[in-house]
Amino acid sequence: MSQVSVVKCNKYDKIMLKSSITKALDMIGGISSFMNKGNNVLLKVNLLSPKPPEAAVTTHPKFVEAVVELFKEAGAAKVMVGDSSGGAIAGKAVTAKAFKVSGIQDAAERAGAEVVNFDKTGVVGIKVTNDEIIYLAKPVVEADVVVSLPKLKTHSATLFTGAVKNMFGCIPGLKKAEYHRKYPNPNKFAHILTQIYSISRVQLSIMDGITAMEGNGPGSGPPKDLGLILASADGVALDSVASKIIGYDPIKIPYLTECDRRGLGVAQLDKIQIKGWALETVKARDFRLPSNAFLTRVPDFIGTGLLNILKAVPAANPEKCNGCQVCVENCPPQVIKMKGKIPDINYDECIECLCCHELCPQNAMELKFRNPFIRIIAGLLSGAGGTIRH
Ligand code: SF4
Ligand code: SF4
Repeated sequence: MSQVSVVKCNKYDKIMLKSSITKALDMIGGISSFMNKGNNVLLKVNLLSPKPPEAAVTTHPKFVEAVVELFKEAGAAKVMVGDSSGGAIAGKAVTAKAFKVSGIQDAAERAGAEVVNFDKTGVVGIKVTNDEIIYLAKPVVEADVVVSLPKLKTHSATLFTGAVKNMFGCIPGLKKAEYHRKYPNPNKFAHILTQIYSISRVQLSIMDGITAMEGNGPGSGPPKDLGLILASADGVALDSVASKIIGYDPIKIPYLTECDRRGLGVAQLDKIQIKGWALETVKARDFRLPSNAFLTRVPDFIGTGLLNILKAVPAANPEKCNGCQVCVENCPPQVIKMKGKIPDINYDECIECLCCHELCPQNAMELKFRNPFIRIIAGLLSGAGGTIRH
């Protein structure tokens, strides 16, 4: 049976963090059960985009610093902190900038870790099927121990992002956009997320759920204090527990179900042993899920055609948009064109990846229901005007 530990911690204070993370790890066997002295350890953080820690887009730098110190103290020879951010500006990946702006570079170096920018480390090709090779950043393949350090966030396209989705960043640079093109829409994208997770060798996941992100995450939702740290050797079980805490039924999240079906972890809550705080005692109140999360509550007899009409779609808010064209540049099938100073989307060709929404630096690419009637239906199904509240 998979085990997930749930520990309370309400501040990014290093002493408190180290003690809470140690407590979470002790409940699942202790840090030494995940590493040997002299190992090289890779911490895969969430470094989606260049946003400061208070935006809750990236794993908090103090959280990263605490984990680095714990692995060093446990005898790791080398601790690396790595990721590749999403998107590009003027053809250049933004990972180096994101390491600085997020505070993770300073924090990791202060604790004695090496910062590894996956866009520059080279890749190793791993054959996953007869006709598919996935190219992972070299450190992910070469480290003795790989640890996922996700931020607990909603995700407008995949509904939730945690330990499993975090490993998508092991694909360096602009190659990520190719996967969005090749696996359009969240159900197909679940397949590639599952494939990447299956080869990314994650032995341990420790989630920063102290300040989470609610609403239309993962790049522009509002921060929400949850005060939780979760840890598990099973990233699928960890995500299932975390997603339940914020109000989802985990088996409605396509990539968690796919991981469970393939035996990569457990998504069924009755097969997960929760250690520490019981689920009922930590369930979040008034946690807003993304606009399209209400679709998980639509009965199965409703056809996919109707579901597609019900969906909220990205649209630029002219009052926030500054015309920077980051969305145009990062749209995988290139279906966004500028109309004057405002981006205009060809919805017939849109693959619903929501990269435009995720990467807009101004949070101007918002999710809108196509007309007020649909908004009312979404509100009725969700109980809250299209953005579900619990
Ligand atoms: S929607 Fe965002 S990314 Fe696109 S042009 Fe406007 S500000 Fe830039
Ligand atoms: S318009 Fe946005 S959601 Fe549609 S394909 Fe382009 S980036 Fe993806």
